[in-house]
Amino acid sequence: MSKRVLVIGGGVVGLSTAYYAARRGAEVMVVERGGADRDGCSFGNAGFVVPSHFVPLAAPGIVGQALRWMGNPASPFYVRPRWDWDLLQWGWKFYRAATAAHVARCAPLLRDLNFASRTCYEEWAAEAGDGFGLVKKGLLLLCQTPRAWEEEGKLAVRACELGVPAEVLDARAAAQREPGVRMNIAGAVYFPKDCHLDPARLMAWLQPTLARSGVGFCWHTDVNGWRVDGRRLVAAVAGGREFAADEFVLCGGVWSAGLARKLGLAMPMQAGKGYSLTLPQPRHVPECCAILTEARVAVTPLGPRLRFGGTMELAGLSLEINPVRVRGIIHAVQRYYPDFSPADFADVPPWSGLRPCSPDGLPYLGRTARYTNLTIAAGHAMMGLSLGPISGKLVAALLAGEAPALDLALLSPDRYAR
Ligand SMILES: Cc1cc2nc3c(=O)[nH]c(=O)nc-3n(C[C@H](O)[C@H](O)[C@H](O)COP(=O)(O)OP(=O)(O)OC[C@H]3O[C@@H](n4cnc5c(N)ncnc54)[C@H](O)[C@@H]3O)c2cc1C
Repeated sequence: MSKRVLVIGGGVVGLSTAYYAARRGAEVMVVERGGADRDGCSFGNAGFVVPSHFVPLAAPGIVGQALRWMGNPASPFYVRPRWDWDLLQWGWKFYRAATAAHVARCAPLLRDLNFASRTCYEEWAAEAGDGFGLVKKGLLLLCQTPRAWEEEGKLAVRACELGVPAEVLDARAAAQREPGVRMNIAGAVYFPKDCHLDPARLMAWLQPTLARSGVGFCWHTDVNGWRVDGRRLVAAVAGGREFAADEFVLCGGVWSAGLARKLGLAMPMQAGKGYSLTLPQPRHVPECCAILTEARVAVTPLGPRLRFGGTMELAGLSLEINPVRVRGIIHAVQRYYPDFSPADFADVPPWSGLRPCSPDGLPYLGRTARYTNLTIAAGHAMMGLSLGPISGKLVAALLAGEAPALDLALLSPDRYAR
């Protein structure tokens, strides 16, 4: 493909896109508001690669659960009350999307995307040596209450029907799988095909790998407009500079919606703020990654370190850290792993990142009908790390004029067009 491709956004989705577009021979430039040493959602996340996540965020029961959580300041979910028309519309669309029919429609696609991305990660790991610590030991959903265990057991049945292996384990079987950490649980579900990696190391591997394959980077470049000629984009505008290209790919995470709006495109998006805490020298390190189900806390062994991540706060674009919610994560850890205590977290600085959340829990992935040379890859919510590589690979196929390997109709960036 002998095209000039401009990728806007240097998160995991943007770098994955650059990787596959460059592999196809495109001349790729990544423009990024931050610097080469930036932080952001793609760096401090939990690092899960999850074929088990075939249920989108918008699913039955989640609205009622969210409303119950709202009353508890330390709960995993919070909406900062504010008069914000975008938020209200987003909430309404989320409510409308959260149906069993929606889940049934999305599940096979999310399964296929996650499995395909897992394969990409295996290929990258072979290329990188142990460059980003891919661990293929599966994921444990740890349940404290018999009720949650029963619910997750139903999910395991559905997973097996879909071809995603899952095993229901009682507390003793879970302890045998994870002998190094004492757990206070009723039972668990084990997903052997899930894996985890170190997201910051992944980004640190991708950046120079891309540079070596000829990808250019323009750091500290905040795209704030477009030059358009009819149905064609001519350039992305950043301050006084213009970046011309044949193809433009918008991978700006949660900020993509604002840039799309300047082109008259409606891509509803809210920032779902989450926190993570990484213990440098934990008392115990589990073998595989885990989710503390009722608390919605992710647990990731990162070599000798241990990361806990959680909460979903719809509070605008602020990265401000709410200590009450962080304490919610810490107390959840102690409930599931009684050998940990809040003292373990004493000097651990919390990290925050903004998940780019669409109302139906699906990414925006594909071309727009309105412009001939604009492709969107954004809105991956809690699955951006997991789906990054396959998103990039599918976008690169579209840029090359090929039909993508998977049907992307459900992910159309035009699905909320008025
Ligand atoms: C606590 C937490 C845990 C998570 N755990 C997981 C997990 O285990 N597995 C998983 O799959 N996902 C996880 N996620 C979600 C995942 O981190 C995100 O989905 C993913 O990082 C999104 O990547 P992105 O490239 O779309 O966006 P980002 O990483 O936000 O990157 C977008 C980039 O675009 C740049 N940009 C934006 N606007 C402009 C502009 N106008 N001009 C120039 N540059 C611009 C930004 O500076 C940014 O660098 C987690 C998130 C959180 C918060």
